[in-house]
Amino acid sequence: MVRKGSRPQNRRQWVRAVGNIVNLSTPAGVLVSVLGGARIQTGPRGLLLAEGYRPRFPVAGAFTVGNVIVSRQPWDLLARRFPQLLEHEERHTWQYLYCGGLLYYPAYTACMGWSVLRTGDRASANFFERRAGLAAGGYHERPARPLRSAVGAQMSMLRSIPRRLAERFR
Ligand SMILES: [Zn+2]
Repeated sequence: MVRKGSRPQNRRQWVRAVGNIVNLSTPAGVLVSVLGGARIQTGPRGLLLAEGYRPRFPVAGAFTVGNVIVSRQPWDLLARRFPQLLEHEERHTWQYLYCGGLLYYPAYTACMGWSVLRTGDRASANFFERRAGLAAGGYHERPARPLRSAVGAQMSMLRSIPRRLAERFR
């Protein structure tokens, strides 16, 4: 069970709650949740839990924007099925604070690109996901490829685009 409705429990959590409002990431999370048709309730440690989010993007089972952790499924169900997921997402709430809010996105995107290059996977070498805990977030860690072959794979993928486009529009 997710324990609901508790305020921040200590100074650090208050700093996170206030900081993520001031840096606009929590307001953005509330907006995204409301636009996505989700219901928002207060969660533990000053977090906000949104459930019933409808759009199909992003693909993740849950995602975090500021102090708001958003999911399509009810949180009680999620917490039973993936007991560590909330912990994983909560670590992302700290990352929003440390990144000063919405700067999280360019930083996260860069790390995701690096991860895809190194491992062929969005999370395995992504600093943010590694720090949040890969297994807790439901990710299977993929080994890094030697950089040269990783770059080679990306290059041959890029080189094949004109051919694939030509085939498509023939
Ligand atoms: Zn994550």
